[in-house]
Amino acid sequence: MSSLRIAVVGSGPAGMYAVGHLLGQGPEVVESVTVLDRLPTPFGLVRAGVAPDHQKTKKVAVGFGRLLNDPRVRCYFNVEVGAGIRHNVTHEEVLDHHHAVVYAVGASGSRSLGMPGEDLPGSAAATEFVAWYNGHPDFSRMSFDLSSPRVVIVGSGNVAVDIARVLTMPIDTLRATDIADHALHVLERSAVREVVLLARRGPESAAFSSPELLALTQLRDIDIIVDADLDKVPTPQHYGDRLKLALLREVAARPSREGRRRIVFRFLSSPAEIVGDTRVRGIRVRRNALRRGRPVPTDRIDHFDTSLVLRSIGYRGRPIAGLPFDGDSGVIPNHAGRVEPGVYVTGWIKRGPTGVIGTNKHDSAETIESLLDDARSGRLSEPTGHFAGLVARRGVEAIGLQGWATIDAHERGLGASALRPRVKITSTDRLLEVARGTPSLDPAANRVVD
Ligand code: NAP
Repeated sequence: MSSLRIAVVGSGPAGMYAVGHLLGQGPEVVESVTVLDRLPTPFGLVRAGVAPDHQKTKKVAVGFGRLLNDPRVRCYFNVEVGAGIRHNVTHEEVLDHHHAVVYAVGASGSRSLGMPGEDLPGSAAATEFVAWYNGHPDFSRMSFDLSSPRVVIVGSGNVAVDIARVLTMPIDTLRATDIADHALHVLERSAVREVVLLARRGPESAAFSSPELLALTQLRDIDIIVDADLDKVPTPQHYGDRLKLALLREVAARPSREGRRRIVFRFLSSPAEIVGDTRVRGIRVRRNALRRGRPVPTDRIDHFDTSLVLRSIGYRGRPIAGLPFDGDSGVIPNHAGRVEPGVYVTGWIKRGPTGVIGTNKHDSAETIESLLDDARSGRLSEPTGHFAGLVARRGVEAIGLQGWATIDAHERGLGASALRPRVKITSTDRLLEVARGTPSLDPAANRVVD
């Protein structure tokens, strides 16, 4: 077998860790790595998912950028793999032109509650809200109504906590981040005073992690309210859950002050119905009780007025034409990352939407080990041609490393004068324009929503 040519589809953390593991092999093992992404910009959820006030977390992109600069890497951003009308190349074509393909496409869909009112304007997926405030080009034109004093979030995972923080933190803090300008505009005029997080289970099994709760407690001028009878909570088995419970007790004991914004953790609460006529007016919430450690519904229903309900109940993978897909779990079925010899998965499309950025390092190591094992056993087919030729014949405007470097420098340049890490360009057309080296220097050209 000749030295390997591998394609990695998706340049978020899972994809980039896979690239790192591949480059860790010498050139006699791996000749080249083609990195594809459907967006003109790389790094997936590091750019479009991590909250804007978590700039330290985003620093992982510095290392990923170094990997892209490796002479064995070829970047093809703005190139989408699939079989639909908007797709540029098919799975079969990518595979034909490489020894193997690793899919690291994440879980870009959202789960639904399947309840009345869910489709009303004013009810949205947390994934959409997060992508909107992070300037993902597919979501920049969405609008969110922050004109009523309360937002209700269904779910209490770390994504829900991120959103609660963004909705309540001092606007000056957000102004110093790379939050999308259109979101900053809306948040500047926000009337939101309270964000309610609905957790269907009790505080002994809260979905958020302790560091995220701790970070909330350090926000200026925000009250954290714990709506639960903490004296009756059973002691959790796991050390991490006991720690979290202790922290919740400490938070609950703090005095709250009139007039401050508040984040309310409402435990043992499930949504029953999203209420509205032409748009969301409120949500009916059912109290649960704990029976043998499990939440069961009671007859008590409370009503909350709100014009915005965000369901933060988990992400969901999407199928890729030509590959198997498990519709129940939303992942591509695999064994240690191997779908079949030559086709591999890593990250959320492999294991589901769990874990933090670092989790993907081990996950990708396992996948690349499966790939190398197949290579050593002679189970991979030789590529039939060079991928660059295929992309050129398709007439796709692929963004390479130089194009991305131009976008990156341009965004940082726009940010520098405002003492921000960057000002994100939030439309695909503008990103392509900048990558071509013909950007308008008028910052207003970046504005998609007035
Ligand atoms: P998550 O942690 O799985 O939380 C999902 C939440 O939705 C849970 O509260 C869950 O309740 C609830 N839920 C699910 N189905 C429901 C239903 N039908 N009705 C009511 N509630 C329902 O997911 P996530 O918040 O989207 O986060 C995804 C991953 O990214 C997680 O691993 C998270 O740690 C990670 N992440 C990390 C950070 C960070 O480290 N800063 C930031 C963002 C995301 P149950 O717990 O009862 O199932």
